[in-house]
Formats: sequence, structure tokens, C-alpha cells
Amino acid sequence: MDFGLTEVQQMVKDTAARFAEEELKPKAAQRDLEHQHPAEACRALGELGFMGIAVPEEYGGAGLDYICYVLALSQISRGDASVGVIMSVNNSLYCFPVMTFGSDEQKKAFLTPVASGQAEGCFGLTEAGAGSDPSAMRTTAVLDGDAWVLNGEKKFITNGNVASYAVVAAVTDKAAGYKGISSFIVDLQNTPGFSVGRVEDKLGICASGTAELVFEDARVPKGNLLGKPGDGLKQMLTTLDSGRIGIGSQALGIGRAVLEEALGYSQERIQFGKPISAFQAIQWKLADMATSLDAAELLLLRAAWMEDNHKHFEKQAAMAKLAASDAAMSAAIEGVQILGGYGYCKEYPMERHMRDAKITQIYEGTNEIMRLIVARNLLKGK
Ligand SMILES: Cc1cc2nc3c(=O)[nH]c(=O)nc-3n(C[C@H](O)[C@H](O)[C@H](O)COP(=O)(O)OP(=O)(O)OC[C@H]3O[C@@H](n4cnc5c(N)ncnc54)[C@H](O)[C@@H]3O)c2cc1C
Repeated sequence: MDFGLTEVQQMVKDTAARFAEEELKPKAAQRDLEHQHPAEACRALGELGFMGIAVPEEYGGAGLDYICYVLALSQISRGDASVGVIMSVNNSLYCFPVMTFGSDEQKKAFLTPVASGQAEGCFGLTEAGAGSDPSAMRTTAVLDGDAWVLNGEKKFITNGNVASYAVVAAVTDKAAGYKGISSFIVDLQNTPGFSVGRVEDKLGICASGTAELVFEDARVPKGNLLGKPGDGLKQMLTTLDSGRIGIGSQALGIGRAVLEEALGYSQERIQFGKPISAFQAIQWKLADMATSLDAAELLLLRAAWMEDNHKHFEKQAAMAKLAASDAAMSAAIEGVQILGGYGYCKEYPMERHMRDAKITQIYEGTNEIMRLIVARNLLKGK
């Protein structure tokens, strides 16, 4: 077993770390406060090849592996977790399904602009009545001549207010239940009948837009169906398995930022005549944070390695997302505690890390659902 990185992986990690430190960290608080979409940062990430890391170069991507994805995304999220989720959704939830299930023609038209970072992508699965149980979705798609006509609303869609393209799931055969769901690539800028609905005002990741996608007799060309009718839910769930490596990496990056801040602060803050880092109560918090973050990182790298090596990684991705998001959230709670009153105020980034960490336990499958997936695999002997 080799825990070392290849030259390319190390270079990707260093590049992402430098970009996070120099470009993202200094402006993260302002963007959070103003709920400002980081358009410039996203363009720069595209130029670095980070908006389509695992997409082959012929389709505008960087042609790298998923280990590189974990390394880059965790560093980017260490700098700004909002930029992290935008990068994660672009790579995992848009590029992945188009790359995996799309035809060559679809990849040329719809993957290249997003993987190269010229446009942004999003993923529309969730609805008001269909969250943890996406099979309850009500958005429909009916074939009418040369187009599928979509009606319905997708809820909580990351990048939904800024994206040019979306992968959207809809019911094409109600009688077939979950086997009657199909997925489509939608050109959001050129589809009459599509509009952006409510944009959410959130607790955290405030610089990343979360919006409703509204379809009212929206005509999507027949050729934009991904794969075969009825394959949609399976495609979406496979996409989410891979996506959880992304969200786990985002969580890891937030956790790392917390640990850095807490370490630095604890060595400078003097109480009772000594730095608070001299108190064992503080040292134990730091040690617990570092241990659970390292454990999460190893789980993430294992899941990414399994994906790179075409192994079944559903359980490992769920474990990694569960461990990383719980590690980030508990680190952030203790991080605020270590900073005391300063941890509660916006003068320091710790309260933002705590707000940002929370969502990683919720989206792309809540942590209750992660435990369910892990247990289901265990009970099947996997
Ligand atoms: C900021 C943000 C960004 C998002 N981005 C996207 C996106 O880009 N695309 C997209 O499609 N969706 C997106 N989502 C939706 C997200 O994935 C869902 O919110 C999430 O899957 C949970 O669904 P829900 O909110 O409907 O909660 P519910 O499913 O209603 O769950 C409520 C609670 O019940 C628990 N629960 C539900 N079922 C079970 C069960 N069987 N066993 C045990 N506990 C259970 C849950 O764990 C949770 O604690 C986003 C959400 C947010 C908030």
C-alpha cells in the first residue's frame, strides 16, 4: 500500500491550495455577506481545469482522476465552501451524468462548455414533495412530436439561478413507478417555458445560489433524453454516489479551515497568563478534530480510488460523506467554542465555517440516508 501522491496529484493539490489561499480566502467573507455569486472565481477554476477534472480533454475537461478531484475540491472548499459546492455540482452532478450516460453528440454539445468552465451546470432532482425519496417526484415529461414537454418544479437546485445547462429528472411513464423516470439535458437559456423560481435565503454557503427550476410546457428537444426512457432514477442515484465524494471533500475542506483557525487562535489568545493552547481541554478538542478529519480524508481517498478503478463504491462513498460531514460539523462547533465570544462574531471566519458545515450533513442525501445506504450494503454482504 502506498499513501504517497503522484507528481500530478501533488501538483493539483498545490495549485488548488495556492488558489484557495490567494484568491478565495481573502474575499470569502464579503461574498458570504453579500450573497454574491463568485463568477470570476468560477471562470478561473475553469482555466485551471477544475470545473471538469475527470472529464476527458476531448470534451473540455482536465482528464485527471478522482483522487485529484478530492485533493482539489477539499483545498478549494478550505478557501471558500460556496465556491466548493459550485465546483462539486459542476463536476459531479452535471458533468458526470452527461459524460457517463450521454451520447457522443450530447457530450460535444453539452459537456464541453461546462467542463471547460465557460458555462455552469446544475442538477434538478429534488422537488417540494420529493427529497430523500426522489421516486415521489411529480415533474412530468410527455413526448410531443420532436420534443419532450416538461411540466413541474425542481426545488433547492444549486447553481439553478446562474447555470446555462441542467440535467433534470421527470416522470415519463407514471404507471411504471420508479422505472418510469427519465432524465434530460436542458439548455436553460434556450428553452421557452423554463424560468428560475424562488432563490433561497440560506443559513450558509450563501455565495452559492439555490433556486427553483420551473417548467411550464417547456419543450426540450427529443434528442436531449439521457440514455433510455425509464433509466432516469438509476442514472441519478449513480450520479449521487459519485457526487458524495465531492460533498465529502467540501466538508473536509471546511473542517481543515476550522482546524487551521483554531490552532492559530489558540496559540495567540492569552488567558490566565498563558496561551489557551496550553490548556488540556483545548488540546483535546484540537486532537479530536485532527483525528476525525484525517480519518475522513482516508475514507474519501479510498472511495475515489475505487471509483478510479471501476469498483462498486456506493457504500464507501456514503461512509466517506457521512464521516467527513460529521467531522466538519463537530470541528466547527468546537472551533467556535475555542474562539469563545470571537467565534460567535463575523469578525472571524469561524461562525461562517459552522454555518457552511451544516449543509454537508443534509444535501446529496442526508446523513440518515447515508447510514441507510451503508447498512443496506452491509446486510447484502457487501
Ligand atoms: C443548499 C441546498 C442545495 C441543494 N442542492 C440540490 C441540487 O443541486 N439538486 C437537487 O436535486 N437537490 C438539491 N438539494 C436538495 C437536498 O438534496 C435535499 O434537501 C435532501 O436530499 C433532503 O431532502 P428534504 O430536504 O426534502 O428532506 P426530507 O427528505 O423531507 O427529510 C427530512 C428529515 O427526515 C429524515 N428522513 C427522511 N427519510 C428518512 C428515512 N427513510 N429514514 C430516516 N430518516 C429519514 C431526513 O434524514 C431528514 O432528517 C439541495 C438542498 C439544499 C438545502
